[in-house]
This record gives sequence, structure tokens and C-alpha cells, in this order.
Amino acid sequence: MQMLTAFRIFAMFTFELNTAQIGEVIMRADESPASLAETTSGANAVDALPDVTSAPPPVIHGAPVEISDGVFVIPDDRVPSVPNIGIVVGVQATLIVDSGIGRRNGAYVLEQARHLAGQRPLFLTITHFHPEHGFGAQAFKGEATIVYNRSQREELHRKGSAYVDMFRGFGPNIAAELEDVELVDPDVCYDGYAEIDLGGHIAVLQTWGPAHTASDQTVFVDGRVLFGGDLFETRMFPIAPYFPPYDADVDGAHWIQVLDQLMALNPHTVVPGHGEVTDVTAIRGVRDYLDYVRTETARLQASGAAADQAASAIVKAARERWSTWDNPEWIALAARAFYASLSA
Ligand SMILES: [Zn+2]
Repeated sequence: MQMLTAFRIFAMFTFELNTAQIGEVIMRADESPASLAETTSGANAVDALPDVTSAPPPVIHGAPVEISDGVFVIPDDRVPSVPNIGIVVGVQATLIVDSGIGRRNGAYVLEQARHLAGQRPLFLTITHFHPEHGFGAQAFKGEATIVYNRSQREELHRKGSAYVDMFRGFGPNIAAELEDVELVDPDVCYDGYAEIDLGGHIAVLQTWGPAHTASDQTVFVDGRVLFGGDLFETRMFPIAPYFPPYDADVDGAHWIQVLDQLMALNPHTVVPGHGEVTDVTAIRGVRDYLDYVRTETARLQASGAAADQAASAIVKAARERWSTWDNPEWIALAARAFYASLSA
């Protein structure tokens, strides 16, 4: 597969804000995409996941809220399987960050973005391949230039179908949103780092994985507003998708390093994957929690504790220490991931 350099993407986006031309260039540069069906089945991993069968339907609703000049968020309202959606409105073009899960959510986000953008060209990017963040992208096909980091595209190919099966197992509300879901390839892939000049706003797309996934991407707007995907949440235990043997790519040690680097960017405003828009203290909170789980797992492992024993001790202690955080079911999986990596 031919690589596209960040410079080429930057140059194309800067000087040729023409989606048809960009699409043609990329299609020539790219090999024909492998089938998204080439994945392993991960349906059994459902057993390890939080029970969301009684949760409300994962439907994005409400109007975009302007959190910074030209930067809007459709808040998740802490509804499970709904992410925060970003819409960055420039003079020349508009960038949407994450689509929500399924065709209906994607169409709603597209409608809200169109309302803000008018006839300006649209770009869509996805923070990471997880269904509630990116599996509404089909609504944008032909409507927006879809941009992924290359490793996310590869991870989507490897795991996308298995995650559709897994999420369908979460209950009828989520299964309904995934009806007729199509996993879509991007129009543009980049490696490492890319800038999109929207006119008056610069969005920097950067690849950081492996951390929460193998290919997490952040979007940093004007050196001020940071969209972090699931690298951090507000007042929730961070999601540790450790589902061996289907998916063991979560990398807690590197995740901590990534969070240190994100704090060093000194963002004014941070938009988590889930939970309220906040500031850099949320990143520090997640970093300190992960460091705590790592340290405690290492200590317990060294004292001879089995993985189950270590996980249950850490769950108890962490729930007390972070008593205001939601979704404690992720603590055990974080501990198990660290335990496995420390054993390796
Ligand atoms: Zn995620």
C-alpha cells in the first residue's frame, strides 16, 4: 500500500478543498481495500462487558453547543454508547469528529453539521474504530471526505465485524441501531500526523496508539481544544477493552505515556469520548488512576496473587478511592490487562 505523507495531505487539504479531487488521488494511490469481513469473531467477549441491556437507546439528540469559537459539541448527556460529537466550523470547510453508532445517529450528526456548515465542504474523522464512535460513518459516504489514520483503518478491518456482533449482544436497543450497518473505508488515510486547514481553524489529527485501542487518534483544534476519544472520560472509569483472545491490544503502560504527552500539549479545553466537556485535570485524573492500577497490579503480582485475586482487590480499593466515577466494571479489565502485560 502506498503511503501518503502528512505533507501531501496538508497540501491537498490546504490548496485543494475539493472532495472529488482528493478522492480520485487517494483511490489511485491506494490498493483496493481488503474486505471488512476479514475479521475474527469476538462474540464471546460479550460475557466480560458491562450489562447495558436496560440502558436507554444509544441515540444522539440535542443541539450542538459552542464550547469555543467555531467549535461545537453535541453532548453525550452520559448516555451509554453515545459519544461526544465534535463539529469544527471553518470559513472554508467543516470537520466532524465521530459519527455515533449506526445509520440513524450518523444521519442526525450529518444534519446538525450541515445546519452549521451550510454549503461548505465537510470532513469526517473518527477518534477510534469502536462502534459507538465510528459505525455511523456510512451516512457520510459521498457527503463528506472521510479521513482515518491508517492504523485505525487496519484495526477496523481486523475487528470491525466482530465488534458489530459483540455490540448486537448488548441488547435490542443497540442491535436496532446496528441494523444494516456498513463499515466504511476512508477517502483519505494518513500516517502519524495530518493537518486540516478549515479556514480560520486548524485541526491537527494525531495517532497515539496503542493505548485504549491499537490506533487512537486525537483532534487538536487551534492548539486549544483537544478531542481525546476514549483516551479519557469525565467522571467515569476509563474503558479498558481487554477481551483476550479476541482483542488484547489495550496497552495500559503506553496509555499512561500518551496521557502525559497530551497533558504536555496544555489544552485549554478537553472533550472526552464520554462525559462532560472539561479541562486538563480530567486527563490527569485518568492518568493517575491507570498508574494506580499498574502499581497495585505489580505489587499484588509480586506477592503471589493470581490475576483474579489481584483484580478483585483492585476493584474494591479503586471504587472507594474514585467513589464519584461511573462504570466500575472496567476496573477489573484494566487490572487484568496490566497483569497480563506484567507477566509477559
Ligand atoms: Zn472506545
